Amino acid sequence: MRVSNVKVIKLEDVLEALLDYHPDADVDLVKKAYVYAASKHADQTRYSGEPYIIHPLHVARFVCELKLDEVCVAAALLHDTLEDTQAPFEEIQELFGTPVANIVQGVTKLSSMNYDSREERQAETFRKMLLAMAKDIRVILVKLADRVHNIRTLDHTSEEQQVRVAQETMDIYAPLANRLGLYRVKSELEDGAFRYLHPQEFAALNEQLKIGEKKRQKFLDEVKTTIERELEKVHLKATVFARIKYRYSIFRKMQRQGVTLDEVYDVVAFRVLCNTVEQCWQVLGLIHQLWRPIPGRFRDFISLPKPNGYKSLHTSVIGPGAEQMEIQIRTWTMHEIAERGIAAHWKYKEGNVISPADEEKIRYLKQLIEELMDLNDTLRDSMELYSAIKDGLSFEEIFVFTPRGDVRNLPLDATPLDFAFSIHTEVGIRCTGARVNGIMAPIDHQLKNGDVVTIITSNHQTPSVDWLRVVKSSRAKAKIRGYLRAESKERHQQLGKILLEKELKQFSITLNKIIKNGSLKQRLAAIGLDREEHLFLQVGVGKLEAEDVARKIAEEMGLVKTPDEKPKFKPLGGLLERLSLSGKGKVLVGGQQDVMIRFAKCCNPIRGERIVGFVTRGRGITVHSMECNYVEMMDQERFVDVEWDRQGETGTEVSVKITSKDTPGMLTSISQVFSKFGLNIKQVVVRTGEEKADAVFKVDVNNVSQLKSIVRALSRVKGVLKVERIQS
Ligand code: MN
Repeated sequence: MRVSNVKVIKLEDVLEALLDYHPDADVDLVKKAYVYAASKHADQTRYSGEPYIIHPLHVARFVCELKLDEVCVAAALLHDTLEDTQAPFEEIQELFGTPVANIVQGVTKLSSMNYDSREERQAETFRKMLLAMAKDIRVILVKLADRVHNIRTLDHTSEEQQVRVAQETMDIYAPLANRLGLYRVKSELEDGAFRYLHPQEFAALNEQLKIGEKKRQKFLDEVKTTIERELEKVHLKATVFARIKYRYSIFRKMQRQGVTLDEVYDVVAFRVLCNTVEQCWQVLGLIHQLWRPIPGRFRDFISLPKPNGYKSLHTSVIGPGAEQMEIQIRTWTMHEIAERGIAAHWKYKEGNVISPADEEKIRYLKQLIEELMDLNDTLRDSMELYSAIKDGLSFEEIFVFTPRGDVRNLPLDATPLDFAFSIHTEVGIRCTGARVNGIMAPIDHQLKNGDVVTIITSNHQTPSVDWLRVVKSSRAKAKIRGYLRAESKERHQQLGKILLEKELKQFSITLNKIIKNGSLKQRLAAIGLDREEHLFLQVGVGKLEAEDVARKIAEEMGLVKTPDEKPKFKPLGGLLERLSLSGKGKVLVGGQQDVMIRFAKCCNPIRGERIVGFVTRGRGITVHSMECNYVEMMDQERFVDVEWDRQGETGTEVSVKITSKDTPGMLTSISQVFSKFGLNIKQVVVRTGEEKADAVFKVDVNNVSQLKSIVRALSRVKGVLKVERIQS
């Protein structure tokens, strides 16, 4: 791919470039688009003072470098006509067809009039582009071409604008180009943005690079010649390219490793392009004979391509003068894919339709779009969406495989949970662990590049708030949040129902009855709700008082309260009661035992857990776990301190011996298992030997099946080798 450095660009340059790779292109469409755009922008100039049309022409020219079709070229020429002129969408649609019009609309900024802040407008514009991109991937390709030219010509705009465009480029567009496999576009965008985001560092780096320039050039030439000579010896035809790495990648390395330019190895990089895969391996062999390879730096992306189709061999060697250098070896076809990414997978078919050459090859694109759409569906707030996508895109990635060899890219430090959610939401929700390279691993295990992961699921599994700390990918985070939200809504509805039922009882009616006789519906209409669930939810979250609702319904039915003969704190045979487990142990309220309490169904606290009491109206005290999702939503004034009654616990004391690796944190992990079961550890004796540790825990258990569960859970702790019950 050539970089167009044409100073004065003309329509002919664009047409020539287009016909070069696409001889049957609909030239008339492009010409017509040019004439239309030129007339719409006739009175406009860019910040640089040039006629405005220069910009769309450059964008169109760049679109040709990606070898896209005439629809994209026309759309590139027209891309700013909706935004900066008054041309209506319908006019463009009528003149150039729906695909062109849709792309133009997709890349158009939303009008600033409708938004309070620039950020909000930016985020909303981005959401719109995302939706357009889901329908037609060409939208993002034209947008990237637009952004490349904007970054190249950012010098002429205000400083504020420079920083804003550069930041957005770094946050969203460079990472998107990266995910789509457009590596050169990504690097150019990053270098362009770097210049404006860190002007001092950029200048300093350039200055430093200039100092060693001559020496470096000599080094590049020397290595290049050496490789070429070796290739010639074996009559292998290949082309060697030598270059200094992109500024931003050098800068990032300096930052990450906290070093100066002198200390950064691999400032230079080489690329050898061959004709066949066999030659790639042959070249690798030659290079490894010339210079000593650095262990752990060889990557075979030919056998295991990146999800976006990128293939290449990467190696780092110790070159002349002990300089480290990176060498990439690939075929010309692979190179084309590395440069054009997703665009390389489109082929011209009959009737000049550009379409994916191979569905399999663009599967990663579908995955990416699905991921973005998921976030779009989950996050209603545009700013939230923007930042989730920013986080979701700009991660250092690792590649993890399914047992069938499908590859997923995940953020660095991703866990089996991330992987599970990347497969399917249902798989994520039910995930209990994984087999990583055949070995059992917990959900928070850190995955590494190249891991083969099988997810283990259970129908009894449900996500918890803790999961949000376990996952790294924004997709998994959004999915877990969505689940928890829906779940807490359901709980509130259920609670509302119970509260209402209880209040109705005082009038000797049931929920069932008022649903059947239409009284509930009447009440709903009176307060402007349309569904029963809405009412239950409002009662459940405390927006409506159950007592009020019940009284009004009763009034309308002409019912009066039946005299309350029962003592205030009498257990009520509701759902809450039935669901609270027996044998949990007693709870003390203010040191008193005889207070009417029940365990909340939503969090079902287990003995030993930190708990809090909630004073209900006429139903005594409900005990919630401190971790319960909806404790924070309840009226804080009605909370009371409660504690577990340690007296008279009827457990049986047992001793459990655990043999484990002697690693830091081991005891903590083990004791966490006990506390998860609500068990009080009475005594621990630890003996450490060679790399192994024996720990004997004395605890009270309630029954044998509980003991079995504990032993199972302990065996699953990473590093635990053996668990057995011993006689104490
Ligand atoms: Mn533009």
